[in-house]
Amino acid sequence: MDTKKGIHSKEQLSIKLLKAVLLGACILGVSLSLVQVFLDVHQSSKAIDRKAREMLAMINEPASRAAYRLDTGMGQEVLNGLLEMKSVQVAAIRLDGAPELAMVERPVFASRYRLISDYIFNPIRIYRQPLYGHKPEKEYFGELILSIDTAYEGKALIQRSVVVVFSGVIRAIAMALLLYLIYSTLLTKPLKRVIRHLSSIDPEEPGQQQLPIPKGNENNELGLWVKTANKLLTSIDYHYSLRQKAEARIMRLSQYDYLTRLPNRRTLQNQINKLIEKASSKGESIALLCLGLDDFKSLNAQVNFNAAEHILVKLSDRLRNHIGNKAYIGRLGEDQFAIIQSQIEQPYEAAELAQALIKQLDRPFEINNEQLTVSATVGITLFPDDGDDVDTLLQQAEFAMIMAKSRSRNRYQFYIATIDTEIRQRKRLEMDLHKALEHHELSLAFQPQFNYQKGKLVGIEALLRWKHPEKGLISPDMFIPMAEHSLDIIPIGDWVLENAFQQLHRWHLAGYEDLRMAVNLSAVQLQDQNIVDRIAYLLDKYQIPPETMELEVTETSIIEDLETSKIQLRKIKEIGVGLALDDFGTGYSSLSYLKQFPFDKIKIDKSFIEGLPENKENCVIVEAIVQIGKSFGLKVLAEGIETAEQENYLIEKGCQEGQGYYYGKPLPAQDFINHLSDHNALSTEPRPNLVNMNRDQGANND
Ligand code: C2E
Ligand code: CA
Ligand code: CA
Repeated sequence: MDTKKGIHSKEQLSIKLLKAVLLGACILGVSLSLVQVFLDVHQSSKAIDRKAREMLAMINEPASRAAYRLDTGMGQEVLNGLLEMKSVQVAAIRLDGAPELAMVERPVFASRYRLISDYIFNPIRIYRQPLYGHKPEKEYFGELILSIDTAYEGKALIQRSVVVVFSGVIRAIAMALLLYLIYSTLLTKPLKRVIRHLSSIDPEEPGQQQLPIPKGNENNELGLWVKTANKLLTSIDYHYSLRQKAEARIMRLSQYDYLTRLPNRRTLQNQINKLIEKASSKGESIALLCLGLDDFKSLNAQVNFNAAEHILVKLSDRLRNHIGNKAYIGRLGEDQFAIIQSQIEQPYEAAELAQALIKQLDRPFEINNEQLTVSATVGITLFPDDGDDVDTLLQQAEFAMIMAKSRSRNRYQFYIATIDTEIRQRKRLEMDLHKALEHHELSLAFQPQFNYQKGKLVGIEALLRWKHPEKGLISPDMFIPMAEHSLDIIPIGDWVLENAFQQLHRWHLAGYEDLRMAVNLSAVQLQDQNIVDRIAYLLDKYQIPPETMELEVTETSIIEDLETSKIQLRKIKEIGVGLALDDFGTGYSSLSYLKQFPFDKIKIDKSFIEGLPENKENCVIVEAIVQIGKSFGLKVLAEGIETAEQENYLIEKGCQEGQGYYYGKPLPAQDFINHLSDHNALSTEPRPNLVNMNRDQGANND
């Protein structure tokens, strides 16, 4: 059944009702009529009998007289009178033991109803009445015989019955029609109207249109039905809108980044795909920019997680506002964004955009009343020049950004084929590094540390060297981050520790008992749960006094996980090993670290020693660091000292120790000890002895 097309008339409720009522009323009407007819038959039958008896009674007296007198004429006359009655067919006066005295007769009534009436009443009914004389003798004369033709009464009966049955049926039909009319006016029509409204309701918004309550039905079942239906529609509408909202939310979540509300990586990829298709059909170019924050990890450690997220949100707002509808921006991942610039004619347009985006970060972000500055690096790749599919383009833009970051930050870099080669070479190198230990390609170089008060060499820093079979010496600045990334730094760092301890043990045995060894500890090693036990074990194994061992960690490595670092460093401190904060000044140099961590020494990064004392900016920094060291009771060592001027300046400012080419380049153990003994470096002899050690042994890449 389709409400729109309407209901087939046969199926209409009112028609069904009409049929049912009609049938019921007909059956009832006919049955009642039949009962009536039946009663009528009974009455009629009795009436025939009664009339016959009356007739007999009426003529009893004259018939008895005629019989008494044997007067045929009189008898005939009496009987003739009976013939007045149409139903009398035969009437006779019969004398006792003799033929009839008189008799009248008429032919039977040729009625077309005979067949039925004969069946009901019998065709002829015969009545007899004895004829007596007067009382008291009461002499019997004979009998009066009356034969009644029932067809007359039958005809009347049948005609009556037809009327009864017919009117019964008519009544039934009339009743049924009346009922139909009432039903269809009261129910079917309002229902149809409601259905019409119902079918015109928009399934998308079922609650927007209410069904009207048919007039006069406000308080009955129909009204109640409509009200209930309306409530149901409203509730469906409500739930539907809730579902739609939920669906839209899910949709948004799957397409947009929850934090910045920018399109996520997947949506970006789809968008790039679309733009590529469009651009290739029109022969246009697209630039894909990958923008990554510099040092987001450190930022995360510096401020709390929420604040770092807050910066990302503010940053994305700035980028979005700047970009407007000039390009399309999305978030690739943690601190990386992608910007698609279509219809570009010259690559410099992309460079301009990159420059403008980087510039957006000049203004600091204000978080919890604190001003924070972040910088970003952008990698750029071009379609179709650099690649023609989403993945390649995205990967290349990311590579370009990574490569740009490894050179210097806060700049942009176009993807060039050499980057690809470079990335490949890096991968290859990473694999080679994995085998370096096994292939005995690693070694240690040692660089002296000079104490100004004592006027002698007091310590040595162990620096790792990797001699690649084909590429020769590779800079630790290049391979240490790789090893950290692949976690190869764990076995490698372990090897460094073992060898450094062993070497120090040898030198101690050789008579330089006070000599101190500094070993670099990477962030990954610092987080390693076994590191403290390992150090304690080595101290014991090589019989090293803990105070002659020093571990160097950088600020960036402790902020990877401040809590763990704090615990680990305290444990190291507990076993008596010294701790130096390496590259001080290059990270966030927050004073709060110095308070929280048990450092003995800070090492001023070599970048601040450069150009001393001419470089005034560096002078200020160095002076400040020395002051900080003093106020925290920490020793201060300057790295990268190459000239006497630098040394003089540092001594003047109160720096206690120095390290750099001026005292000696990093050398392999054997060369180092030769120089130590050759020049008696461990004595309080003046420094020029050590300057002579600057002979390049090829064992370092400086
Ligand atoms: P670092 O710990 O700051 O080491 C000092 C770096 O400065 C060394 O570079 C050293 O050769 C160089 N240097 C020393 N004096 C001078 C100077 O007067 N002028 C100049 N220009 N440079 C000087 P190197 O050996 O290339 O090491 C680089 C970095 O690699 C180290 O910086 C350290 O962070 C890391 N590294 C080296 N060995 C290890 C190691 O065994 N484990 C870990 N985790 N990191 C290491
Ligand atoms: Ca160091
Ligand atoms: Ca350093």
